[in-house]
Amino acid sequence: MTREKLAGVLPRAALDTGVALERIRPVCEDVRDRGAAAVREYTARFDGVDRPASRVPAQVLADALAGLDPKLRAALEEMVRRVRPVHEAQRPAGHTTRIGDGAQVTEHYVPVDRAGVYVPGGLVPLPSSVIMNVIPAQVAGVRQIAVASPPRPDSGGMPAPAILAACALLGIDEVHAVGGAQAVAMFAYGTADCAPVDVVTGPGNAYVTAAKRLLAGTVGVDAEAGPTEIAIIADRTADPRFLAADLVAQAEHGPLAACLLITTDPALAKRTEAELRPQVASARHRDTVQAALAGQSACVLVDDIEAALAVSDAWAPEHLEIQAQDAAGLAMRVRNAGAVFVGPYAPVSLGDYLAGSNHVLPTGGTARHTAGLSVLAFMRGIHMVECSAAALAAAAPHIDALGAAEDLAAHVAAVRIRVPHGQDVTSGAGPATAGADAQQRPAAGPPIRPDLAGRAPYGAPQLDVPVRLNTNENPYPPPPALVQEITHAVTAAAGALNRYPDRDALSLRGDLAAYLGHGLTARQVWPANGSNEIIQQLLQVFGGAGRAALGFEPSYAMHPLIARATGTRWIRGAREADFGLDADRTVRAVREHQPDLVFLTSPNNPTGTALPRAVIEAVCETAPGMVVVDEAYAEFAREGAGTALALLPRYPRLVVTRTMSKAFALAGARVGYLAADPAVIDALLLVRLPYHLSAQTQVTARAALAHSAELLATVAHLRAERDSLVGWLRGTGLAAADSDANFVLFGEFGDSHTVWQGLLDRGVLVRETGPPGWLRVSIGTPAEMAAFRAALTDVLANAQGGADR
Ligand code: PMP
Repeated sequence: MTREKLAGVLPRAALDTGVALERIRPVCEDVRDRGAAAVREYTARFDGVDRPASRVPAQVLADALAGLDPKLRAALEEMVRRVRPVHEAQRPAGHTTRIGDGAQVTEHYVPVDRAGVYVPGGLVPLPSSVIMNVIPAQVAGVRQIAVASPPRPDSGGMPAPAILAACALLGIDEVHAVGGAQAVAMFAYGTADCAPVDVVTGPGNAYVTAAKRLLAGTVGVDAEAGPTEIAIIADRTADPRFLAADLVAQAEHGPLAACLLITTDPALAKRTEAELRPQVASARHRDTVQAALAGQSACVLVDDIEAALAVSDAWAPEHLEIQAQDAAGLAMRVRNAGAVFVGPYAPVSLGDYLAGSNHVLPTGGTARHTAGLSVLAFMRGIHMVECSAAALAAAAPHIDALGAAEDLAAHVAAVRIRVPHGQDVTSGAGPATAGADAQQRPAAGPPIRPDLAGRAPYGAPQLDVPVRLNTNENPYPPPPALVQEITHAVTAAAGALNRYPDRDALSLRGDLAAYLGHGLTARQVWPANGSNEIIQQLLQVFGGAGRAALGFEPSYAMHPLIARATGTRWIRGAREADFGLDADRTVRAVREHQPDLVFLTSPNNPTGTALPRAVIEAVCETAPGMVVVDEAYAEFAREGAGTALALLPRYPRLVVTRTMSKAFALAGARVGYLAADPAVIDALLLVRLPYHLSAQTQVTARAALAHSAELLATVAHLRAERDSLVGWLRGTGLAAADSDANFVLFGEFGDSHTVWQGLLDRGVLVRETGPPGWLRVSIGTPAEMAAFRAALTDVLANAQGGADR
């Protein structure tokens, strides 16, 4: 059975966009020529709403979300929770192909900068349409997403509240109250109110579709959305009630909806027809359903299941349900369909809302060549071509031949100017050789992962200067009594180094739990070689390929670095001007991105600022995955700053990380740890290396914990020194961030590098980190701080009248 033969037989509504195209052409041209004024006039004419600017005010969006029916909100949130991971998994990984020595092509995928999503108004607004279009764009990493939807006189001249609420839920703050062809033209050409976009997606009426077709050369567009359709392949095992219900559900979309039942069983066809009668009669949209079923719909009787597949493939349905024996096996053999719904309990209605799949699917037989909406609509693969001189020389003879055949002599010349005929670029002779050596290095290096290529390793320059205030270490070495105890403990452990250490570090975990208090036990504490390793283990288990972590910058630079090293996508959230976090905005970012992990650093490095517990609680309430509160500097916090440890009993996905590197003056021993629900620790066991914590490390940490009172006494000195430094800095007219840590971020300098260099020239090393114009200084001993103050005073006095401040 060929497609050509079936084409004239199978029903489908014929659509003619020709008329619509002619009607919208002047509208689009007018918007191109007159911009916002034209958009305003068409909106007044077609939608009966006249507003000076198209953009929906932020308050209207916020009000729409606040007014959203809680049940609908919960449903939309669940939809987001399901749709997002499916699209995360879609994001293509880049790949590198080595063509030969010194020649390779890397394809990496880059999102478009700005996307426009059209959401039709319709009689009944479809907030699900917002989610199905916006999430792929967000997951692709599109930086700016604008939504347009027609204004409604009955909604105060704004788009439907449910649509606005869905936008607000996803963190979309740019919404335009514009519909029809003028909205597509606004996106394509841009107006004073709306910058032009790179891609427009979203369904719409015939005029919207025609405008997308007309403007496809100006802006990227997704597939055209025609009337919806379903094919159902059913055998005698199918339940006719289900079949009838799904046909009616499809038909209620509109009188042009097409429904095809393809069955091997004449009895089933009869029983389905019998089922249809009462279901159609009681349908809420009976007239629409009847029109669709009487119009372009049919029951196709086939000899066997092979023929059923052939009919469906020829029709290439938007939705295909398979309700037959071995439905999954048959589904794998389908060649043309937008989406396939397998078995009796995966109806198309599930796919419209909550399967997690995208419901924007190809119609009108375009499933033969087009897929449903995906992150790829918002991304492009870019080929990165690298070639050494030697590799170019190897390809040159072929380029000579191809260039000659196509009469493109300049093409040949552009190659031969680099690798002239007869020169041996690999032997060391000739002008191309020097270049060859230099260029060959990257391709000849070890074949590292492309996502790591070109990245710089972490680490501040460790310079040999008298006053080192750049790495937030504790300036006080361990006291002699502790040094002695560590020596004894390590000596004792040395006698048993032929054995592996306690891989679960149970004694150390017990001591750490006792130190933390809050009723914690060894089962809730987990140590590793520094809290960096703790963070790595967390990202290995809860992050990884296809997953994402969200942090709020400026913050600890290792969080994104370890995330990337583990293949976890890093999402950069922002802090407020005072380096704190606003609970509402933070929660919105979490809602928008639905990250697998959220990192909150409190006190934060490099700003020193601590987070109120309410912010951490709000994130714990919202985050779909793990919440990691990095409390490396907790012991330095001022009274009342609080710790997230107290929240652990309420939130099983909360993790609090700590370190012995700072307050315990044990940076060289490498001991970090976390407190969390025992299930989190069980999960970490899946990735930790066997015996990761050496016997010496374990006994050293335990000795330090036994001396915690003494060690923590230095913390009080450092806190006092910090507070006096903040006062002094502010007294000199500089800005200093509030600090709950053992360092202070200060600024703002017009040229902070010159100040850094000036301090270094005077023997004081601080850290160039944080926002531009700021520097970070770790708290040292009183003598070191005096040296810092003297050096800074001198630097500032020497700066021309303070001109570089
Ligand atoms: N978290 C934060 C916020 C830090 O600043 C640091 C170290 N500078 C760490 C974690 C890592 O500490 P360690 O690996 O030494 O425990």
